[in-house]
Amino acid sequence: MKNPTHEVTMTIAEWYNLEIRPSKVFHAESGKRIVGCAKRESGKDDVYYEMFFESGPNQFASGEASITCQVTDGVILVASGYEWTCPNCRRYSRQSETTTTVHCERCGMTYPVMDIFHVPS
Ligand SMILES: [Zn+2]
Repeated sequence: MKNPTHEVTMTIAEWYNLEIRPSKVFHAESGKRIVGCAKRESGKDDVYYEMFFESGPNQFASGEASITCQVTDGVILVASGYEWTCPNCRRYSRQSETTTTVHCERCGMTYPVMDIFHVPS
């Protein structure tokens, strides 16, 4: 089964600063997959970003450079009760145990679990 995806366009700086970054991000111009990003600072106002491609040379980009992300829709389980919210219909659900995919009983969508969030105690 193919995971549901949607496209988001943002700047490399916005992507870098996301708390949870999308797992599949593509450089809009070349179509190459970006597997990492580093923030470089040389001087007070000179900040730029280095994109690491899955293949081929690295590319340096300013923070304003636009990239297109093909975001794989997924859910984040909250570890205390394995709770999650459906990205499609916003239904709140609980799993009985930890899992790699979840299925929404209301709208029928299946999503990969991207991360498990452990509530700080
Ligand atoms: Zn749903």
